[in-house]
Amino acid sequence: MKTAPSPSKPALQESSRRTIQTNFKRTKIRESLLVATPTVTVQGCLYLVDFGSGSPQRFHRVNKTKECSCGTAFCQAIEAVRFYLQAGGARAPDQEGMFTCPICGSKTYRDRNWNGKYTKELGWRCMKGGLHHFLQAKTERIKKNFTENPWLIPPAPGFPGIRRDELMTWEECETTTRKVFRETGYDPTA
Ligand SMILES: [Zn+2]
Ligand SMILES: [Zn+2]
Repeated sequence: MKTAPSPSKPALQESSRRTIQTNFKRTKIRESLLVATPTVTVQGCLYLVDFGSGSPQRFHRVNKTKECSCGTAFCQAIEAVRFYLQAGGARAPDQEGMFTCPICGSKTYRDRNWNGKYTKELGWRCMKGGLHHFLQAKTERIKKNFTENPWLIPPAPGFPGIRRDELMTWEECETTTRKVFRETGYDPTA
């Protein structure tokens, strides 16, 4: 391999050195662009944001109400989706078969994080009222159920009975409380 510069062709040497430098610079720029511009693709009714393999948390899923799956309120992925849409990127479809919010009548969308573990009821959020309307609707339904049929095991002589709200919901209440605390930092039990 010839490594020493050939004294007969100094001009060529100089130009090839410049090409290597330019290429190097270009690669650097391309790399920094990749870091700054995550790729956004539509995945179901969500936007999948990929920050690249070098990122500690590579994939983020942003929903249509600008919330990111990572839970960070001002996640970069949300910005990435905004840029993507501004640049004319395809919009994620609306979820089909979703009902309107029983509290305010706005559109709703699924939120798997709030699926009822014990009731098997699917979680959702309201486009306008968010999680608040889901919880409000849930509370109202629990109240209604309770008024209609308060006893899980009716009282009998020597036995006080077990009310639905005592048994059926306390576990959910606890789950809910924990979730509210995790999402908002507000501890309803404090
Ligand atoms: Zn995120
Ligand atoms: Zn609502």
